[in-house]
Amino acid sequence: MIDLRSDTVTQPTNAMRKAMAEAPVGDDVFGDDPTVNELQDFAADRFGFESALFTSSGTQANLLALMSHCERGDEYICGQQAHNYKFEGGGAAVLGSIQPQPIQNLVDGTIDLTEVKTAIKPDDFHFARTKLLSLENTIGGKVLPQNYLAEAQAFAFNNNLKIHLDGARVANAAVAQNIQISDITDHFDSVSICLSKGLAAPVGSLLLGSELFINKARRWRKMLGGGMRQAGILAAAAKLALTEQVERLVEDHDNAKYLGQRLTEIDELHVNLAAIQTNMAFAVLDEKYDVKLLTRELKAQDILIYPTQNLRFVTHKDISKADIDTFVEVLKNTVKGL
Ligand SMILES: *Cc1c(COP(=O)(O)O)cnc(C)c1O
Repeated sequence: MIDLRSDTVTQPTNAMRKAMAEAPVGDDVFGDDPTVNELQDFAADRFGFESALFTSSGTQANLLALMSHCERGDEYICGQQAHNYKFEGGGAAVLGSIQPQPIQNLVDGTIDLTEVKTAIKPDDFHFARTKLLSLENTIGGKVLPQNYLAEAQAFAFNNNLKIHLDGARVANAAVAQNIQISDITDHFDSVSICLSKGLAAPVGSLLLGSELFINKARRWRKMLGGGMRQAGILAAAAKLALTEQVERLVEDHDNAKYLGQRLTEIDELHVNLAAIQTNMAFAVLDEKYDVKLLTRELKAQDILIYPTQNLRFVTHKDISKADIDTFVEVLKNTVKGL
């Protein structure tokens, strides 16, 4: 199978499987799991935070962040396209009684800080209390400019807001700019990072922040059913995600660019080459073609894509350049036959 639906489909490496089999473990709810503790200490140190918390998913890490920064009746400002607004089931509202205030994302993925300023509510009992600005990097495969992060950090500070980064793919953002992950995370009070996407761990994310913040998050994690016991089995693979899988993301980025170039050979597709900054390539299928039919026909030829007219193809460690050549040839022929 050539699976271009997402980088979440990556298989764990052999080194990960071995580390998982051999990991020393303990009861992590008691704080006794040495492998989880090692991962959390390593991540906190490497990314420049006091503390880190291993979570079951990125959705959980973001929810813990929102619930730890905000209380009932508080508000967070984020992008209209933000994962933690649009794709997490409204968790902050459902479980945290926290109101989102989305702002339209600009083409480069940023949200205009002047608009954010206007959206901050006055201190008046008619309004929710605005507490947090939440950004996402990468967002839709795009890298937020470093100078924007600095501006957003200063803006949040000057407006008495905390600032959170949904950094599910922050490693992609760092590799794309040839900088350290900490050069990005330095601008935030808290950060969530997915280890189970392009970094290939089977399960798990990290939440980073101050000790006080992580202590709050740990309490919420337990309440939400996310207290895992011998979680070192998972943390062992997660550590290798950080130590062995970051640098190779450059291959995924090169492959996405190569894929984008090759897709321009197909007349029925409108490729947006400028949008290819990391491991995602985008193309719109001409509306006279049925994308569901295309998806079915590709599946019959061992290729998996996500059936949306605005197509998104995600490259990852289990997609080679040769796979991309195969994919483009099959796609060309299949689209012709639609
Ligand atoms: C995938 C993703 C998440 C959620 O991660 P899960 O582990 O799938 O819950 C959060 N934010 C962004 C930007 C993501 O891409």
